[in-house]
Amino acid sequence: MTATATDRTSSRYWHERAVRVKPETRLFIGGKFVDASSGARFQTLNPATRQVLAEVAQGAAKDVDLAVAAAKKAFRSGIWSRMAPRSRMDVLFKVARLLEQYADDLALLDCLDMGKPISELVNIDVPGSVMTWQYFAETIDKIEGAVTSTDPSALHMITREPLGVVGCVVPWNYPLMMASWKAAPALAAGNSVVLKPAEQSPLSALLLARLLAEAGVPDGVFNVVNGYGEDAGRALGLHMDVNKIAFTGSTEVGKLMMVYAGQSNMKRVSTECGGKTPQIILRDVGDLDTAVRYAVNGIYGNQGEVCNAGSRLLVQESLADTFIERFRARAAESFRPGDPLDPATTMGPLVTPEQQKRVLGYIESGKADGATLVMGGSVPAGFQQGNYVAPTLFTGVKSSMKIAQEEIFGPVAAVIPFKDVGEATRIANDSIYGLAASIWTSDLTTAHRLARDVEAGVVWINCFDHGDMTMPFGGYKQSGQGRDKCFETVLAHTQTKSIWINLG
Ligand code: NAD
Repeated sequence: MTATATDRTSSRYWHERAVRVKPETRLFIGGKFVDASSGARFQTLNPATRQVLAEVAQGAAKDVDLAVAAAKKAFRSGIWSRMAPRSRMDVLFKVARLLEQYADDLALLDCLDMGKPISELVNIDVPGSVMTWQYFAETIDKIEGAVTSTDPSALHMITREPLGVVGCVVPWNYPLMMASWKAAPALAAGNSVVLKPAEQSPLSALLLARLLAEAGVPDGVFNVVNGYGEDAGRALGLHMDVNKIAFTGSTEVGKLMMVYAGQSNMKRVSTECGGKTPQIILRDVGDLDTAVRYAVNGIYGNQGEVCNAGSRLLVQESLADTFIERFRARAAESFRPGDPLDPATTMGPLVTPEQQKRVLGYIESGKADGATLVMGGSVPAGFQQGNYVAPTLFTGVKSSMKIAQEEIFGPVAAVIPFKDVGEATRIANDSIYGLAASIWTSDLTTAHRLARDVEAGVVWINCFDHGDMTMPFGGYKQSGQGRDKCFETVLAHTQTKSIWINLG
């Protein structure tokens, strides 16, 4: 018998773990794992093989009711909402430590469930989630009120209180990290949470629930209801006892969340939605190879299934041919489709066959609209068993084309040439989205002007996707109005109370 592999950089290590993995599949309500009240289950498939990975309890309105009732009861009891800040901090720091301890299990679940390469999970998603819990733990005793300047006959105090029950509705592209970005600030502020993971990636949230309970988050304070968006997600959005929806997902569903709020109890809604990020590369770029490297990573990382994926490559005309040549060479050497469980793999399958079909449909539309396909454009040879799409590049793209306007959410980049800074600004802003942008130039004035004029919540200069927990992450325009990470986010899970004391 051969010994069990212990080398985390070997494919065998992850394959052996994958064979042994027994994910939790029930809902988590009131501190207990339970089946859906209807008994229904849905299948989650491994995107690399299209084999059934697990059958997961399928929550719907009744289960959302139960979870919200448990969350409300816990909130009203004060067991968490009025816990001493330092004690609440201890619990969330312990969550961070447990995430580190269970890093491989968490990474494996997301890898099998949504196809992301294991190396990305180990290096980005899990450490990013750990940092999220640490950061929001640190904010807890920094939440302050105020005493305002009033007439001496009165004392006016403004205090901050948690909202109550927060419904967190998240997408599948970073399952653990999005759940952490949403739940950690809500819990830090003292709220109770009902998390609705995406139906394409239901598993890691259930392990997260177990770890939160183990860390000391009291029963009912954190609940997970898996299920379909139109059932469980809608029920949460319309619920009269949910005080806020913290949403990350498509613009279409983000708008629905705002409608649900209007149709129910005027709950607060924060939305983090789609994007069509321009990477603007000017002819005076300092180091073209660095810009090319970031441009390639910015669109093909996580198979392009990234809200801020740099899908629009705005390249100054005189630089276009050189840029395209180097981009193709770099992409070919650094992004090759492979087995997501192999740590050497940089590109996995797309999340579902539907997503694959959608992306291939956009590629057809690019061709039909007259853009030039210079790389990829199809299912890579040898990968028919999964939802793979080869890294794809279109050149000669016009801003009016569908591939330049709509969020593809796959590994498809579009080179849009421009003449001068004015035209670059116009093209960059010719979008319903405004999540992020990057600018590559060695001219300080151009950098500052473009940073000011580009309509985006995040602007990177001479880098892409850099940042830390202090950076507000969120969009302009139809990329949403919420902000993730950063101290502002924890405050967005509180409400002010004005207490006016008559001293007269
Ligand atoms: P999606 O909008 O289809 O689903 C997101 C969540 O909403 C899921 O949990 C889903 O079940 C739920 N949902 C779907 N339909 C619903 C409905 N009718 N009522 C209530 N809930 C419903 O998005 P997706 O396909 O899971 O994720 C991809 C999208 O997420 C992309 O548009 C991407 O840009 C966006 N995203 C944005 C950010 C950001 O920070 N701005 C981060 C990650 C992903």
